[in-house]
Amino acid sequence: MGFPNPDRSVLPEHALVIGAAAETGGGGDVFAHIYPATGEVTREFRLANAGDVDRAVAAANAAQPAWRAMPGDKRRDLMFRLAALIEEKAAEMTPLLTAENGSIIIAGPHMSADAAQKFRYFGGWADKIDGRTVQTWGGPAHDYVSYEPYGTVGIIVPWNGPLFAATMVMAPALAAGNCVVLKAPENAPYTLMKLMEIIRLAGFPPGVVNLVTGGPDVGAAMVSHPGIGKIEFIGSGNTAKKILASAAETLKPVGLELGGKSAVVVFADADLQAAAKRGLSGAVSANGQGCVNGTRLLVERAIYEPYLQMLQAMAGHVKVGDPLAMDTFMGPVISEAALDRIQGMVAGGVSEGGRLVCGGERLGGDHASGYFLPITLLADVSPESRIARNEVFGPVLVVTPFDSEEEAVALANDSDYGLGAYVHTTNLSRAHRVANRMMAGQVQVNGSGEAMTPCVPFGGMKHSGHGRLGGIEGLREFQQVRNVWVNLQD
Ligand code: NAD
Repeated sequence: MGFPNPDRSVLPEHALVIGAAAETGGGGDVFAHIYPATGEVTREFRLANAGDVDRAVAAANAAQPAWRAMPGDKRRDLMFRLAALIEEKAAEMTPLLTAENGSIIIAGPHMSADAAQKFRYFGGWADKIDGRTVQTWGGPAHDYVSYEPYGTVGIIVPWNGPLFAATMVMAPALAAGNCVVLKAPENAPYTLMKLMEIIRLAGFPPGVVNLVTGGPDVGAAMVSHPGIGKIEFIGSGNTAKKILASAAETLKPVGLELGGKSAVVVFADADLQAAAKRGLSGAVSANGQGCVNGTRLLVERAIYEPYLQMLQAMAGHVKVGDPLAMDTFMGPVISEAALDRIQGMVAGGVSEGGRLVCGGERLGGDHASGYFLPITLLADVSPESRIARNEVFGPVLVVTPFDSEEEAVALANDSDYGLGAYVHTTNLSRAHRVANRMMAGQVQVNGSGEAMTPCVPFGGMKHSGHGRLGGIEGLREFQQVRNVWVNLQD
């Protein structure tokens, strides 16, 4: 039996877009893309290679001076037109989100709306890139600061949400006057291929955005390429280390948006129903594969057992299965290897003293040919255990009790990561007090993801990365500062 496969006839055709040319494949190996809900191949195509990266960088650099010189209002209008077209094409984009990585179909419209909002928000900055004047010391002079693009920005994104991640970078990079070479991940390529069609339809000049679909070798070729002015990388810490080492050769700046093990602190005074619902989204969102998912639950001891029971009961109501079905709330993880790794981590958590409350076993029956794991709750987890310290990247929540506000803060911050943090309380002063002590790039009070809009800065502290995407901080990531001093004395 098994679940249906996505409609292969709607998959976009072009894996590469370089300048004005849309190409079905590149100069690399043939790749067979797998749909994780069935384990079956959706399409085969040839990946890009280093030669394709060369061509894409040349096209971007050729287009960049004119893109930079285009008046801000024209760049804004193009980005607004793109936003409107993304909304118009949402119904075409939605099945591709599911086809590329098993995202649930009901999330599709939201992902298109989010991408459109990013181009609209940053399009709004494109006509407001002002500098400032400085009252300099020492002699009559006119001094001013201007914000300049880097030239070509190389964007490398992971498979868990390519459209979300890529637009988070493209929108500010383009608004600032940069051109783009974007690498679509080979195992989740379809939404970015579609986005390129929409960009062309919007009337962007050829070369402003170029697409190469490929694997690690293509990313590595981008990082080492002397023609790329800045790399923005979204992915894992291990890959980030390799990228930083390679970028040292060309002294290239690199922005890093990495993984997390984000704490969710639930105080006894919280609205527990709401906190549990939101807490569960840490397991469900992006099929458990979201960088900022709250996966480390810290629960005040007074409500620990009732809260766990609430979570377990709610988890039992989440339908896990066919991502194309309108009543499915959680789909598969990306691959067989990921499933094995996640199950191994859960087994390790149990052997280190964790109590398996629910989940943990691969789903059979209709689910058997895909890579499905139910929501998995592990209680009484020691803060020292490996599953409490490492990113699982699957639908697994670990739960640990605490006795005081001080202990909650200490436990939340006792992590190599610092991406998100979530605080649930109805006490206003405690909310601010605790939020202001969280060593995380984005703290949400009584929330679970609502903050992730283009107008606010998003990014990590510690091993979760550096640099910010979103808000004016996100725009500044793609600008370099020039200061001009003019002698006013003859
Ligand atoms: P990954 O690091 O394996 O791969 C990410 C991208 O880097 C892929 O496109 C891959 O092809 C490319 N790549 C791999 N090796 C490379 C190299 N040597 N040089 C250049 N590029 C290379 O990560 P993944 O498994 O695809 O994604 C999951 C990770 O991404 C998780 O850790 C997750 O938390 C993180 N993530 C972070 C954010 C964020 O905004 N902070 C968002 C989504 C995902």
